[in-house]
Amino acid sequence: MTISVFDLFSVGIGPSSSHTVGPMRAGADFADELRSAPSTVRAVHVDLYGSLAATGRGHGTFAAVLLGLEGNRPETVDPDYVEKRGAEIEAARRISFGGREEVPLCAEEIVLHPLTVLPRHTNGIRFRAVLADGAEHEAVYYSVGGGFVERESGADTVNPLAGSPGVPHDFDTAAALLETCPRTGRTVPQLMLENEIALHGGPSDVAEREVRAGLLHIWEVMEACIERGFHAEGMLPGGLGVKRRAPGLYRRLVDSDGADAMDWLNVAAMAVNEENACGGRIVTAPTNGAAGIVPSVLYYALKFRSSLAARREQVVCDYLLTAAAIAVLYKRRASISGAEVGCQGEVGSACSMAAGALAQVMGATPPQVENAAEIGIEHNLGLTCDPIGGLVQIPCIERNAIASVKAVNAARIALHGDGTHRVSLDQAIETMRQTGADMLSKYKETSLGGLAVNVPEC
Ligand code: SF4
Repeated sequence: MTISVFDLFSVGIGPSSSHTVGPMRAGADFADELRSAPSTVRAVHVDLYGSLAATGRGHGTFAAVLLGLEGNRPETVDPDYVEKRGAEIEAARRISFGGREEVPLCAEEIVLHPLTVLPRHTNGIRFRAVLADGAEHEAVYYSVGGGFVERESGADTVNPLAGSPGVPHDFDTAAALLETCPRTGRTVPQLMLENEIALHGGPSDVAEREVRAGLLHIWEVMEACIERGFHAEGMLPGGLGVKRRAPGLYRRLVDSDGADAMDWLNVAAMAVNEENACGGRIVTAPTNGAAGIVPSVLYYALKFRSSLAARREQVVCDYLLTAAAIAVLYKRRASISGAEVGCQGEVGSACSMAAGALAQVMGATPPQVENAAEIGIEHNLGLTCDPIGGLVQIPCIERNAIASVKAVNAARIALHGDGTHRVSLDQAIETMRQTGADMLSKYKETSLGGLAVNVPEC
């Protein structure tokens, strides 16, 4: 499967890529599929399985599914509309299926199976529509992390570009990437750019302009999210009593003429993840829970490195392309889903992506980029997913800040070396995959273990 940078960095809504963005996409896809049904839809039934059922309430899954079934998509829906429309549906106990016919359905009628895991992934959704002529139509979807959605029937996905054939530099290991760079005389972002241009119908100047514009748009959305998070005061939703801390920290940094890079990394990451916790406009990077790390490290690079700020557009493109190239390795060889491999697959992958991408824009060779990415994951191996109350708040928000600092450090260590090192990125990714497979399910986004059971919710 070819994976596009725009699938890895997709614009959506908080608080979770696997539990909010993916389920909304699945609902919209199911509603679309029935657009050409021979008769109207009379009833729709929804079953959630595994982690979606266990932590769906705290992750906004129910509203996401219902709004998806009404035809909304995460990339275009207004985050404020989700809350408003969700309340309207609960009051009326009806949805407008596909924006067409009214059918009875609300959150209470979604059937939960937290202890049942469907064959392909723990985040399973089953939709069943009953038509006016008595026929039934059923489909099973898996929300496999990062907003990616797969159908039971095969490897097909409902992500915009995934699965498109024919890229010039196909790779699924870091070893292949490191072999391709010197052979073709390309850097990591150049390889990724050529792949992306092919996915956009190139090679051509038009396709290249489209890809670059798309990358700059992704950064605009990320940057806007940081800025919103700097200024949005108040409490996070969900009843945990967590206060938004980014605005206070931001004010202190501005008032004190604060030049401490680590503080700025922290505040940018927390700003994004507090926005995410509030269901705001978010870019998966590679997931929502880990969405603060890639933007905060780029924010830091542009703020504290004048040589990078002077080449802003090129730096943004190279940074995101390199981060995406690293994410492809995790997606293809292991997982970016907390429900599948724990938080090492979310925050660990994001830390690795940001580390390699920062090294790249600071002038690293491909082996140094690979080294930085390896350090970024190695020191996140074994990280569990245990969000308190099933909300993407504790430990998630601080965890993004910590991992952002770690990513910068990983890039710095790699840049002091020559790229030779003992543990390869491929070995670290395989270790992550095996560790995730061995991890008890209570540590994989079920809120049945770890902090989620040792810290009272109120
Ligand atoms: S603990 Fe990590 S994987 Fe789990 S919800 Fe939070 S950020 Fe995502």
